[in-house]
Amino acid sequence: MNCVECGDRVVGFAVPEELQEHVPEDSPVAAICANCLTLQPPDEDEPTPGDPDLQSVSEGFPADPAAAVPMALAVGLMASLALNRQQIAALVEAVEAEGVDFALSVDRLAEDPELRPAIDLVGRRRQFEQLTGR
Ligand SMILES: [Zn+2]
Repeated sequence: MNCVECGDRVVGFAVPEELQEHVPEDSPVAAICANCLTLQPPDEDEPTPGDPDLQSVSEGFPADPAAAVPMALAVGLMASLALNRQQIAALVEAVEAEGVDFALSVDRLAEDPELRPAIDLVGRRRQFEQLTGR
């Protein structure tokens, strides 16, 4: 399957049970576009990797899936910041519980020349910080 927004490849990943409530439709699987970072429904024709290689999308993602998966979800949900504020906050907590600096990782994604993010990552991160008083 390809991205509904830009047609690039998508990377599927399993969502751990404790994070599923923060995913649209409480889905156990999700996918992110390797180019524009839009969150997508997973590819139904391809198995979702249990150990997703989100670093193949960008080295801005943490190597550890325990941090990379909530990171990918949070970045995807930032497309609708006001609507998803609580979910993003919970996901950011999950990322930072793994010892990863969320803001720094977002900035690394924004600086990745291979990516064409659909949203202004740094702008959204700042807005998020203002909304939540972080
Ligand atoms: Zn895309």
